[in-house]
Amino acid sequence: MVSEERPLPEPDSEELFSLLGPSALRTLYGWLYRRRGDNAPTMAEVRLFMADALGEPQEHIDRRLRELRRYFDIPSVPTPPGNPRYPLRGWAANAPDSQNLAISSRVRAQVLAPQRCFQCGKTPKEDRVKLVVDHKVPQSWGGGNEQENLQPLCEECNAGKRDYFQTYDVHAESIRAAINYAEPQRRIGELLRAFDGDWVRTDLLGIVASAQEFQEDWQRRLRDLRFLGWEIEYQRRHYEGARVWTYYRVKKWRPWPASIRDAITAEERRRRSRERPSGA
Ligand SMILES: [Zn+2]
Repeated sequence: MVSEERPLPEPDSEELFSLLGPSALRTLYGWLYRRRGDNAPTMAEVRLFMADALGEPQEHIDRRLRELRRYFDIPSVPTPPGNPRYPLRGWAANAPDSQNLAISSRVRAQVLAPQRCFQCGKTPKEDRVKLVVDHKVPQSWGGGNEQENLQPLCEECNAGKRDYFQTYDVHAESIRAAINYAEPQRRIGELLRAFDGDWVRTDLLGIVASAQEFQEDWQRRLRDLRFLGWEIEYQRRHYEGARVWTYYRVKKWRPWPASIRDAITAEERRRRSRERPSGA
């Protein structure tokens, strides 16, 4: 379903962000984008760019190119000898979700219809903000273009979310893995485990909990973990303005039972019967 004419995304576009997430990757893409065509950089130039612009060790070059090649066709052209060039030619033939990337204008209009930022509540009319379509679960974490995964955010909130989510780049693989589990309790639990005792902010938990199907009360699914023997701590942190975020971290976790739901129901029943001594 990859069309030859499909244009490459602009380096600062929403599409590219939802695709690549990590800022280093987008910076590298932007540079290759500007130098596509005859001016493609050589291996030596890519190395220099990695060190100067990204502050990344040169050993990362292979990994970064591999990451970009999941989506884009960046062949290694062996001229001059020993110092190949890396032209950005277009989309990779097997780019994941590529047929799914573009959001139709109909869906876009429906998502933006509330004309209000879902995070701060500002509106284009009263506050003169510009609304954009945001992926609740970023595509780089496996989120799709289905309408349930889309929401209107103002540009400022969108940028804030980007910056914040970038701090999770190191956990991207674990997040992607957690998102794929069928049970919400397991998605939450696996995310907490991936952070290995580090604090996880509530919005990330909410996103991962609702990744497969919307969870009206995901905090309850989080509490369910206690019935499975998990110990979870929380902490509230205040930020400038009135914003308060809750963070969670796992203190103790247990292996998953064969049926999470059955195990929770059984434990709930057991606790209830303990609270109400027999005779009823
Ligand atoms: Zn906003």
